[in-house]
Amino acid sequence: AVQDIRDRFAQAPDNQATEIERVFALQQKRALTLRTSTAAERIAKIKRLKQALLDRTEEIHEACYKDFRKPPAEVDMTEIMPVVMEANDAIRHTKRWMKPMKVPTTLAMLGTKAHVRYEPKGVSLIVSPWNYPVNLTFSPLVSALAAGNTAILKPSEMTPHCSQLMEDMVREVFDESEIAVFQGAVETSQNLLDKPFDHIFFTGSPAVGKIIMGAAAKHLTSVTLELGGKSPVIVDKSADLDKAARAVAWGKFFNNGQTCIAPDLTYVHADVKDEFVEAIKQRLETMYGSLESIESNADYARIVNNKHYKRIKHLLDDAQSRGAKVLAGGQHDDAQDFLAPTLLTDIEPDAEIMQEEIFGPLMPIMTFKDTREVIDDINSRPKPLALYVFGKDNAFVDRVIGGTSAGGTAINTVMMQYLHGNLPFGGVNNSGIGMAHGHWGFKSFSHERGIVRDRFSSTHLMHPPYTPFTRKLINW
Ligand code: NAD
Repeated sequence: AVQDIRDRFAQAPDNQATEIERVFALQQKRALTLRTSTAAERIAKIKRLKQALLDRTEEIHEACYKDFRKPPAEVDMTEIMPVVMEANDAIRHTKRWMKPMKVPTTLAMLGTKAHVRYEPKGVSLIVSPWNYPVNLTFSPLVSALAAGNTAILKPSEMTPHCSQLMEDMVREVFDESEIAVFQGAVETSQNLLDKPFDHIFFTGSPAVGKIIMGAAAKHLTSVTLELGGKSPVIVDKSADLDKAARAVAWGKFFNNGQTCIAPDLTYVHADVKDEFVEAIKQRLETMYGSLESIESNADYARIVNNKHYKRIKHLLDDAQSRGAKVLAGGQHDDAQDFLAPTLLTDIEPDAEIMQEEIFGPLMPIMTFKDTREVIDDINSRPKPLALYVFGKDNAFVDRVIGGTSAGGTAINTVMMQYLHGNLPFGGVNNSGIGMAHGHWGFKSFSHERGIVRDRFSSTHLMHPPYTPFTRKLINW
């Protein structure tokens, strides 16, 4: 049934392009008046969104379960709580974020005063993925509202129940001249991307990120791209292995491995590999019971659809055909898009699992002896969205961080760089451009307008006719 609804969205309805045209024009007009909106007005809208979310928690649970059997506890933790946190932060701080930032006067500018004004970019477009459907649509919306923008939301066609629910919520809470939702797949995105938006906030794969940036280039629209990639985990022999296993097993198999910042490639110091693998197996048992019966465990989500199931199963088959060993898991059921948490070792560097983002419950474990080897391997790949390092030896941790680049990093834990309310969240190059969350999210949707006011400057002395004195003036 979910697939039927997804298929329905594959093609945009006949009148959708015209509807987009109409709503976009309405929002362009509205955006002009929002330029002078006050903090109180913006906060009131964020409060309405937050309340709608809290009023509909049961429906959000149901929609997420229908779309990919997402466990209700994970819905609370990853769909509702992050948006509420984002909203609370904006409710508390929007007034301060909006305050013009005074800048000191430079010597050449004596007699002037200057400041940076945070003005709304205008009409924004938010395109979101399916893996955290509510969070990754509404969290950026909070930032767009805090910054005084209007927004058109294009949620994913892969999670149709969540998308429909968000459309209903938005219709209930906002006027379409401020916030509107258009559902659909590629064609809908393309219809939207034809419009000269003032900002595009996209969350999804690097491949589609390039398409979005290409389309944005036609209008010189600014972009925030929150993308993905293969986030490495490096476990040193100095690490607390139980703690490392606890964090990695959770971060890897949460949401069935379908998390942009999930550990992807795990590098473990050869001296502690066996101990680490045992600790991971232990954690899996503690979290899900026996892997033999995990299929019926309600705390274990599903791969979102059969296409992704086949892709991930192919990564497993390809690795095994090249000699990879399955240390745990491997159970699967094609009819249910089910694949148990699977630990792999002895993987050929050419195996496909070593190249593309896994985005599923497969965990390749490699070993290293020399820190340089790991750093070189990470640097030979596109820059990841997250990098995790485990170790009590601070020199090791510093060496890994200093020698690599990543969107964000957590030491001796995973994913907390996302949940930490006072950190910017975003990628670098292939894993993204620009930043989300809190003040950074506000700035992504704001134009920083530099404003200088002349009071009694002597800048006119630099005008023609040029004399030897002009030269003196500019040669401070
Ligand atoms: P996706 O790139 O396939 O789709 C994302 C959105 O783009 C969807 O709304 C989709 O309808 C739209 N889209 C797809 N093809 C398009 C096209 N040709 N033109 C225009 N729009 C198009 O990503 P996904 O499969 O939904 O999500 C998984 C990816 O997202 C992973 O790579 C993951 O790492 C990444 N991700 C990143 C973050 C982050 O915060 N950085 C968060 C979650 C997911």
